[in-house]
Amino acid sequence: AMETETKELACMSSVIPGWFSEISPMWPGEAHSLKVEKILFQGKSDYQDVIVFQSATYGKVLVLDGVIQLTERDECAYQEMITHLPLCSIPNPKKVLVIGGGDGGVLREVARHTSVEQIDICEIDKMVVDVSKQYFPNVAVGYDDPRVNLIIGDGVAFLKNAAEGTYDAVIVDSSDPIGPAKELFEKPFFESVNRALRPGGVVCTQAESIWLHMNIIEDIVSNCREIFKGSVNYAWTSVPTYPSGVIGFMLCSTEGLEVDFKKPVNPIDADESSIKSHGPLKFYNSEIHSAAFCLPSFAKKVIDSK
Ligand code: SAM
Repeated sequence: AMETETKELACMSSVIPGWFSEISPMWPGEAHSLKVEKILFQGKSDYQDVIVFQSATYGKVLVLDGVIQLTERDECAYQEMITHLPLCSIPNPKKVLVIGGGDGGVLREVARHTSVEQIDICEIDKMVVDVSKQYFPNVAVGYDDPRVNLIIGDGVAFLKNAAEGTYDAVIVDSSDPIGPAKELFEKPFFESVNRALRPGGVVCTQAESIWLHMNIIEDIVSNCREIFKGSVNYAWTSVPTYPSGVIGFMLCSTEGLEVDFKKPVNPIDADESSIKSHGPLKFYNSEIHSAAFCLPSFAKKVIDSK
């Protein structure tokens, strides 16, 4: 058993034996590491390598193609922010589409909103859904909501065929632009999102780190300014197990009713029914919502100039 475990760890590109190190050309010269207690699952889907391991200090960890997607300890920071930043910025969201997000964590957060009537999710990789249901019940609990409608397929194709003006909000919970998520960062995809949203509808997409990917962010911002005729804003949050410890979101609205993302109009942190049905929020509140749009000077300069 020891021997297979050593072999498995080698597949996980460890720098330190017994530790998982996240090595990728997307962040050359650095690799965040977590101590591995036990590998729980290793598989290869049609799209990516899938690993689940028990870490020493962050609970269970989901890794796709060598990149950490979530840990039990800090997933709240990401899931709550990517969901409530858009949904708390508009009154009464009813139809919500999630692209990616196969783990179900975003669904769990969308489900807190009682105004929501329909939650569609289009995830490309069924293995992510199955693995999450097996190993991350507190995240995959999002699938239990009767409003959820799961489509296994490519988010790009799904949005191309979506009826015009359908959604109040689209949340793009994608992996990085190397691999199946590449097109989710490109202009034609944003054009389909714009089409599928109702006037004054909102989109929130995973938009990488200001410390590592200002070049990717610049492109996303300039594409979005061309396509979305309402507001276009960048927000960010702290997620310790993501490269550089921070992750950003691109928030845009379509032409029509005006949306001021910095002033939430639909607070969820004080919502008794959300707390009753889903437990208290661990990260999001209305103050951190507004603060998320304050940028360090170096990032502000670049983003404002686009
Ligand atoms: N929710 C996670 C967290 O807490 O950090 C973030 C990552 S989520 C697991 C990203 C998902 O996007 C993956 O499951 C991946 O399979 C999916 N994905 C990648 N490309 C896609 C595409 N073109 N269409 C739909 N889903 C895609």
